[in-house]
Amino acid sequence: MERNPGVDRSRTEPESIKVVYITSLGHSGSTLMDMLISSHSQVVSVGEAHQIGRAPETTPCRCGVRPGLTCPFWRAVAEDFEKVTSVPFNQIDLEDTTTGHFEEYNVAFYTAVCRVSGNRIIVDSSKNLSRLVGLLQTPGLTVKPIHLIRDPRGVIWSSMRKGKNWVYASLQYNVLVARTHYALRSHGITPVHYEDLTSDPMAVLEPLMKKIGLDVEETQLDWTSGPRHNFGGNEDTWNSEDRTIKPDITWRSRLTRLQKAGIKLLTLPVRWLNPPVRSQNSSAGQNSW
Ligand SMILES: [Zn+2]
Repeated sequence: MERNPGVDRSRTEPESIKVVYITSLGHSGSTLMDMLISSHSQVVSVGEAHQIGRAPETTPCRCGVRPGLTCPFWRAVAEDFEKVTSVPFNQIDLEDTTTGHFEEYNVAFYTAVCRVSGNRIIVDSSKNLSRLVGLLQTPGLTVKPIHLIRDPRGVIWSSMRKGKNWVYASLQYNVLVARTHYALRSHGITPVHYEDLTSDPMAVLEPLMKKIGLDVEETQLDWTSGPRHNFGGNEDTWNSEDRTIKPDITWRSRLTRLQKAGIKLLTLPVRWLNPPVRSQNSSAGQNSW
């Protein structure tokens, strides 16, 4: 368990907590983004926090303790959370907005994480949009959303590997990206593109960290090191021992020409809505549409 000795745990109030929430479709680089941001010395990550109440006995914490909720970090968070809510930590549903406990549970959860970690900035890569919308309306929390977008051909290739039809997956991509765009438009959120992040991570991280209120640290690029207590996330990214950041472009050789052209055509509306920034000029030219 890591603590920041400079922070007085007793003074951690919800209003001083900043939640950096990553929302995206699956296979869009949210685990990489999470690890890059939380490699900052003043940031702690909870990973896909919505999974916490659903973690089965076999789910490990990313620090290696199995089952994950028995790890010292989560035991301390659970103790803190239960003191405030009187609800068993392993039964909470941080996504459920219907019970009237959404705000109470999420504020108690983040407050406990801050107290235990000693950090006031938390990365949550739950991805789920409805939870983000709920958090943005929760008094006492400062929420900084990050909308992460990936080339639809990469996202849809990942869906096809799970048996989805590419036409259906393309239409679903449009709906989900557009829904996020409109939900966040009043918050002035500019989407971050996976292709930009993987082609020049520092150029993306620098302004992003500034928006969070921190200066970027060089050590953030050493994103594979350090103990973490996340749940969920992309297994390949988690298990990577190579800190070199490179885009996954498997889809290029796996999709047929027809599928590539079809996906480009079907996702034209949201691509027009969210054009990539630096990737248009990437030296490799590999991210151009
Ligand atoms: Zn752990």
